[in-house]
Amino acid sequence: MSGITPDISDFATKESMIAQEELTFGKWLNNIWRAVYTCFKGLTITGKVILTRKPVTIEYPEVREELPANSRSRLFNDVDNCIACLQCAVACPVDCIYITATRRDKEAPKLKTDDGTPIKLDLKQYTIDTALCCYCGLCTTVCPTQCIVHTTDYEYAQYTIGEMKYDYLAEDIRAWKHRIVK
Ligand code: SF4
Ligand code: SF4
Repeated sequence: MSGITPDISDFATKESMIAQEELTFGKWLNNIWRAVYTCFKGLTITGKVILTRKPVTIEYPEVREELPANSRSRLFNDVDNCIACLQCAVACPVDCIYITATRRDKEAPKLKTDDGTPIKLDLKQYTIDTALCCYCGLCTTVCPTQCIVHTTDYEYAQYTIGEMKYDYLAEDIRAWKHRIVK
């Protein structure tokens, strides 16, 4: 134990050395110079970064970023062009697309999608639970009429999970066509 116990005389020597380091006028001036120089050096680096680097952040929500056209963000189904073929629902790996359709009355007026595909079924329900969706994009790739697409809209946070289930036949969601589909 005696080997690791500091000798009291060591402290006494250090204290006396510190006491001997007197602050002369030259040292005082040198300290001031070093303080000013190091501040200036730091501010030069900061100034260079401020003046030369482009900003990496934006002032959201005043400024909004445009996502690339191929972004896989909020889904939109233009139900007027949906033929209820179920291919999207079959392809969906998480089964979050719910479709109900009935056969069209033979006497009903003939309907076609924008690309000329005959509409033989009446779509009664087209719902996607986006809380389950993994944004894989498979539904958009298999759709024969290309009516279901990923949009670049990323502002759709909700307070409850139930609000993330979208009924694409609802009027307010149909109106997205003019707001978020480009
Ligand atoms: S993007 Fe979503 S809804 Fe479409 S197939 Fe993938 S998980 Fe299903
Ligand atoms: S694949 Fe396209 S057309 Fe077929 S049900 Fe899905 S969204 Fe409608």
